[in-house]
Amino acid sequence: CGIVGYIGYQDAKDSLLQGLEKLEYRGYDSAGIYVMDETATGHLFKEKGRIAALRNIVDSSIAANVGIGHTRWATHGVPSVENAHPHQSNSGRFTIVHNGVIENYKEVYAVYLSDVDLHSDTDTEIIVQLIAQFVEKEHFSTIDAFKKALSCLKGSYALALIDNEQPDVVFAAKNKSPLLVGKGDGFNVICSDAMAMIQETNQFVELMDGEVVTLTQEAIKIENAVGEVMERDAYTAEINL
Ligand code: GLU
Repeated sequence: CGIVGYIGYQDAKDSLLQGLEKLEYRGYDSAGIYVMDETATGHLFKEKGRIAALRNIVDSSIAANVGIGHTRWATHGVPSVENAHPHQSNSGRFTIVHNGVIENYKEVYAVYLSDVDLHSDTDTEIIVQLIAQFVEKEHFSTIDAFKKALSCLKGSYALALIDNEQPDVVFAAKNKSPLLVGKGDGFNVICSDAMAMIQETNQFVELMDGEVVTLTQEAIKIENAVGEVMERDAYTAEINL
């Protein structure tokens, strides 16, 4: 159970898969990644069991510079490919990974999404369907839809979100689940644990509960729960490999 995200000039697939391997110690039953290639086409790979099994199904010819990944420790829905993350909106435009538990997912479904068909038994899928609904039906911008969706949720989450129509951005948020931003030279990453991305960078920025992050190759924008932009220095992680 952990998440990773990468945006930059290098191969996102390698960085994500290595990151997930480093998170193996946290325990998991399935894993997946979503990457976007140079033509802004998305590719989703999910597998039960070992990261090695996921590695086997990832098409190594894809040139991707952005992506998100997940190791799942099932809390809602059995371990299966359908319930493995990333999860996507029915439109296919939005893709999310989630570590944590959404306590009110049934209520959120009943209030906002009762006409939406779900494709998993997870508490996570409702988050991505809700974001899609706010964008596609209520015409929110993606960042505003993300924030509005978060305001509907009760529980714990580390989240990373990709919008196919903004392939140069990864959105992330945290509440009561660990999440860090890693700063690189020409790339940025997110991860549940610095260990996952220490092969890429040792410069990390801590996130606080309620914060929302917009990550591009060059910049990291952190906003708190009331929308104020937070300036926070990176610290140097010292992990002996
Ligand atoms: N609650 C989510 C699920 O069961 C996420 C679990 C996790 O943190 O791995 O799919």
